Amino acid sequence: SLTDKLQNVFKNLRSKGKLTEDDVKAALKEVKMALLEADVNFKVVKQFTKTVQEKAIGQDVMNGLNPGQMVIKIVHDELVNLMGESTTELPLKPSNDLTVIMMIGLQGSGKTTTVSKLAGQMKQKGRKPLLAALDVYRPGAIEQLQINGDKVGVEVFSMGNQVKPADIARAAYDHAKSTGANVLFLDTAGRLQIDESMMEELVAIRETIKVDVSLLVVDAMTGQEAVNVARTFNEKVGIDGVVLTKMDGDTRGGAALSIRAICGKPIMYVGMGEKMSDLEQFYPDRMASRILGMGDVLSLIEKAQANIDEEKARELEQRVRKAQFTYDDYLNSMDQMRNMGGISSILSMMPGLGGKMKELEGMIDEKDLARKEAIIKSMTPKERANPDLMSMSRKQRIAKGAGVDIVEVNRFIKSFEQTRKMMKQMPGLMKKGKRGKFGG
Ligand code: GDP
Ligand code: MG
Repeated sequence: SLTDKLQNVFKNLRSKGKLTEDDVKAALKEVKMALLEADVNFKVVKQFTKTVQEKAIGQDVMNGLNPGQMVIKIVHDELVNLMGESTTELPLKPSNDLTVIMMIGLQGSGKTTTVSKLAGQMKQKGRKPLLAALDVYRPGAIEQLQINGDKVGVEVFSMGNQVKPADIARAAYDHAKSTGANVLFLDTAGRLQIDESMMEELVAIRETIKVDVSLLVVDAMTGQEAVNVARTFNEKVGIDGVVLTKMDGDTRGGAALSIRAICGKPIMYVGMGEKMSDLEQFYPDRMASRILGMGDVLSLIEKAQANIDEEKARELEQRVRKAQFTYDDYLNSMDQMRNMGGISSILSMMPGLGGKMKELEGMIDEKDLARKEAIIKSMTPKERANPDLMSMSRKQRIAKGAGVDIVEVNRFIKSFEQTRKMMKQMPGLMKKGKRGKFGG
């Protein structure tokens, strides 16, 4: 998969100390292949790798930081750029006005499912949505919408399948107005392929009532075809945004990456399953991370990369192995943590913690860290470098200097000594990946 491929490329980059122009080129050749395999549009890939190459080589010359990480960041940022930088919200009028949203797309793309999910979300946000059944062709289409509407608790307006869609739209609009609904969703019919009659029908609806947003629904599983569909719909009827469905399946990232670049319209939502709750807003940065296969760990790497001095870390490891861990080292590790945005920020980026965040945050007291820091800073350089020097009178002086109770100094020194002892017993503790992650 693209994810695996890119991770392999970056693993190789990461293990190198310096990144030459040849390295960048070689890595990007792999990235290019991987993107093409993921069904990303050829032109998009070409432009993409060109941009990344220019940026990567330039920046490497400017600062010789871990260059592999640099390339990851540039690739990531460019992926985000391709997809539109930030989340595009569904443009809604104020609550006292009616917004009309028309769902369009091929048959089976997920219009009926998505429109119901969206209506459910609107309702949860305090809006008053109304769903209108305009698919008069597909057998069971009206019932399907009715069932979904019931699930999300949203009224469904229908007139059976003998009335023209444009006329249903008119009646639904009037019904919405008279019942005080403020978001009207039109669930239109799709065809197996884009054809004239479908286009004409959509245009007829728009000539009958004022449609504020035309949302195109495309199936991510169809890859490059989804991009073609988006481009054609945009050219023939005009669209305001895209919903990419079935992103929960074994989809390649291609469609998500190229839609914006090819048709100029943003992805607003992604469908992540068949359940009514499986609809998420589209976040270009999250999608880029997902494509890179690193989740939010990517941003953790970036921050850590920028702030942790590898040399220092290696030195520290040596010291710990020899059980020479000092107060200076402790202070250092605290600085590193703080540079990375504090413990809670680090925790928030760890994969898999999700719902546990609040709990964990409660357990870690950053004020407590600040007091520990004050205590260490009240020590003399000699005391910091040699923990064995500590005595009662020294502790009293330190407490005064740090503005804390002597009890707190004692407690801290005790926990420091325990940490030191523990480290002595576990020489493997500071192996790669554990660096800078110890507390008191
Ligand atoms: P429509 O013809 O465009 O109205 O498409 P439907 O809403 O009827 O959806 C077609 C099929 O795709 C149904 O079986 C849906 O349950 C399924 N579907 C829609 N969205 C998603 C999604 O995000 N993930 C998955 N796995 N299935 C979806
Ligand atoms: Mg449908």
